[in-house]
Amino acid sequence: MKSTDMTSTLRRTWAEIDLDALSYNYHTIRDYIGRDRKFLGVVKADAYGHGSVHIAKKLQELGADYLAVSSIDEAMELRFHGITMPILILGHTPKEQVDRLICFNITQAVTCEAKAHEYSAEAVKYGGTLKIHIKVDTGMSRLGYICDGDYFQHGVDGIVEACRLPGLEAEGIFTHFAVADEPGEDCRAYTEHQFKLFTDVIAAAEAKWGHRFLLRHCANTGATVYYPETWLDMVRPGLLLYGYGEFAQKLGLRPLMSLKTTVSTIKIYPAGTHISYGGIYTTTKKERIGVVPYGYADGFFRVLSNRCSLMTVDGPAAQRGKICMDMCMIDLTDKTNVDVGSVVEIFGTQQPVEKLAELAGTIPYELICAVSKRVPRYYLEGGDVVAKELLLRM
Ligand SMILES: *Cc1c(COP(=O)(O)O)cnc(C)c1O
Repeated sequence: MKSTDMTSTLRRTWAEIDLDALSYNYHTIRDYIGRDRKFLGVVKADAYGHGSVHIAKKLQELGADYLAVSSIDEAMELRFHGITMPILILGHTPKEQVDRLICFNITQAVTCEAKAHEYSAEAVKYGGTLKIHIKVDTGMSRLGYICDGDYFQHGVDGIVEACRLPGLEAEGIFTHFAVADEPGEDCRAYTEHQFKLFTDVIAAAEAKWGHRFLLRHCANTGATVYYPETWLDMVRPGLLLYGYGEFAQKLGLRPLMSLKTTVSTIKIYPAGTHISYGGIYTTTKKERIGVVPYGYADGFFRVLSNRCSLMTVDGPAAQRGKICMDMCMIDLTDKTNVDVGSVVEIFGTQQPVEKLAELAGTIPYELICAVSKRVPRYYLEGGDVVAKELLLRM
């Protein structure tokens, strides 16, 4: 089926996900980092709103080495849908689930001594080995063994202790940067400090433990593009892979998602008509106003009310009045080629998501993750729809 004639009862608002762009981005990043580094694709939060099953399937087919998610539920979803490649859980998993982690060959981050002991005890009880990656807190101040300053030796000792616990196999070690994607010398210095601390911790831990970590990784999107020294054994980008933001632009990557809707109704109002809740917009002349079925329950940001535009075949149409739960209004007064049924792009190749994010005072991550479960995802390859997914229970 051609992307242009998608007929579906669900044709209301939909997201087109370009799997060719995913392949392109993947190969471009791989070429950039060189063949001898491994590649972990971050597919947490439903692959940043793109649908983790289809993204993971494609990454598996492309030959990516690892995936990362935030929870065991996200990992199990992938395992239940044919993803057999290694998966790392970045966040916490309750100790009661250790048997499932082992059974489904899922790798768990270990972020502190207490969890290392809990996981070890559960793994021994179950009679298996849990693969772990040690998380080092080098300055993100979120998860991980604290290792900075006076904590260095204590942190290293704790890490080595975890590596030696029965039932655990320490395959990797990682840290996360706080400002690798921010400009300026202070941020560079902060990132370099984090990286130096990370490599110092690895050296001290490996010396004491007497083994090497197979996978040392820390490069998120910003570091993958601007800090080649941080690539180590594996890079770990998220946003970059999906093709958004300045770093993706730097590498010439392509955005995966085009979020589209259609004009469902058009009405012509006289001057002085209040549009939508609260009457924050009043027509100043005879105006032709379209209703599009895209509201904050679909992932639109209400804060953008009356402050943004959506892209039509005749160019950007100003959004008018408060954005409602299920729809919003756009000004089609001078858009003579736009009629009921016309396709309108919310963001995508015509209107970059970065622009809407900036208007909303946020980052592209938040807008793509916000695309809600009632928006069907259509996966395109070679111009054809190869899969459709609606995350609603039907
Ligand atoms: C989300 C996340 C990433 C990916 O971050 P991007 O900025 O999207 O590249 C990498 N590592 C960890 C630990 C994360 O939580």
